[in-house]
Amino acid sequence: MADVIVVGAGNAALVAALSAAEDGASVMVLEAAPLTTRGGNSRFSGGIFRIAHDGMDHLRPLLTDDALHWADKVELDPYPADRYLADLQFTSQGQCDPALTGEMVRRSYETVLWMKAKGVHWELVVDKLFDPENFDPAETYTLPPGGALRATHEGLGLMRDLFAAAEAADNIEIRHGAPVHELLMDGSTCRGVRVRGIDGFDDHLGRVVLACGGFESNPQKRLQYLGAGWDLVKVRGTAFNMGTVLDAALDAGAAPSGHWGGAHASPLDADAPPVGQLSMTDKLSRYSYPYCVLLNRDGERFVDEASDEVWLTYAKTGSAIREQPGAWAVQIFDQRTVRLLEPRYSTGTPIEADSIADLAHKLGLPAETAMRTIEAFNAAASAEGEFEPFVKDGRRTAPGLLPPKSNWALPLDSPPFVAYPVCCGITFTYGGLKIDTEARVIDTTGQVMTNLYATGEIAGGFFYHNYPAGSGLVRGAVFGRIAGESAARGA
Ligand SMILES: Cc1cc2nc3c(=O)[nH]c(=O)nc-3n(C[C@H](O)[C@H](O)[C@H](O)COP(=O)(O)OP(=O)(O)OC[C@H]3O[C@@H](n4cnc5c(N)ncnc54)[C@H](O)[C@@H]3O)c2cc1C
Repeated sequence: MADVIVVGAGNAALVAALSAAEDGASVMVLEAAPLTTRGGNSRFSGGIFRIAHDGMDHLRPLLTDDALHWADKVELDPYPADRYLADLQFTSQGQCDPALTGEMVRRSYETVLWMKAKGVHWELVVDKLFDPENFDPAETYTLPPGGALRATHEGLGLMRDLFAAAEAADNIEIRHGAPVHELLMDGSTCRGVRVRGIDGFDDHLGRVVLACGGFESNPQKRLQYLGAGWDLVKVRGTAFNMGTVLDAALDAGAAPSGHWGGAHASPLDADAPPVGQLSMTDKLSRYSYPYCVLLNRDGERFVDEASDEVWLTYAKTGSAIREQPGAWAVQIFDQRTVRLLEPRYSTGTPIEADSIADLAHKLGLPAETAMRTIEAFNAAASAEGEFEPFVKDGRRTAPGLLPPKSNWALPLDSPPFVAYPVCCGITFTYGGLKIDTEARVIDTTGQVMTNLYATGEIAGGFFYHNYPAGSGLVRGAVFGRIAGESAARGA
């Protein structure tokens, strides 16, 4: 028996465990995955934390000495809380829960500072702007204010640091290969959990923090909630987020909350494996598409490649690709833009050609349609306006082109052309359990479910339709810390 049982061992779970332990509770962490693949999506992640801040001087106390080296070399505007909240409102089409997202934003900075005290290392995300080996001091590099901070060594480093902290704590025990199957309930009061073993079940009593992810790894549930075709998409991260405990909590009377038909899904290398591999983590993501022309298998454009900065569009662009014939598309760059590709494109094998016709043949696209599409695009993209790769430059296609390209609209006319085929990769699901600002689970009658808390992907109400990059880890961490405090206080 432990005072607090934490289900899962990703970012949200370990933050909850550390928080409860700090408040004096004995904690048992139950992780479905074995030791080698523990850590959930958090371990696969790019480790970016979107926090509200007042600019570079505010971030300095978080950074390691190595990271401080870059702090004087790049520009960074403040990211005030009201802009963060506006980004959440914008991406969710006004549907995100104001109380929950308000708490998340308000406590974002103090939470990463607290995580630093627990041993998490932080750095600036400079390598999405330039190759650090070939830094050009003559160029001005501007970090996106909301996407400037990440855990050192990304998700792998984040989880290494969090596991090290949890394993060093006397009052935290971690069990691997321990999939929670049921909640032990007395009406709306949770007494503990039941773990499924090979030849039976083990019951563990205590207050329970659910931090065991969404249902994105489960094709049956993706089909059920997200709709036709979603059962076939590739999973960018862990194989273990099956939604079992989410269902158990709903069966126990927890209220569903948020966008159950919505998911974070982004452009992924078309040859990516069906489920994420820790050897690659997020290196098969293909996020330089604002500089490309994106064609489907019919040789047609189908989306504004640059309606906003990439961190505000990438989470819905995977869904747009999934809706295309064969759930497939191709990002085409030329010699003006290929230099801007993120380093992780080196994990792919580009297809190159000196003309659009040759490229279309190599890709199996109808050449005439592809040429006509690019000609129309180029005619509309010859507009005035300076191309500025690192700020939203407003260089848009001329009126009449549908869909438009709203920024970085350079003509695609400098061969050789370089193409990267992509598909849709699901990251995580948006629907989850209803919680309050103390991370307590709320039941279908609006009452608090005693001794039951939730944080991370399993909690709903934060994200709808789309998502600002780096909010998933922050949501899990802020509410993980709160859930740990609430559960320990109860204990
Ligand atoms: C490739 C990739 C890149 C990403 N990059 C970023 C980024 O840079 N910034 C950002 O904010 N977000 C990013 N995300 C999203 C982010 O990873 C998630 O939002 C976040 O990690 C969710 O944390 P979590 O703790 O809720 O879930 P997870 O980290 O997925 O942890 C869930 C845990 O629960 C365990 N579990 C599941 N079922 C059970 C069960 N029945 N019993 C016991 N344990 C169970 C799992 O094994 C896992 O350990 C990325 C995701 C991916 C896949």
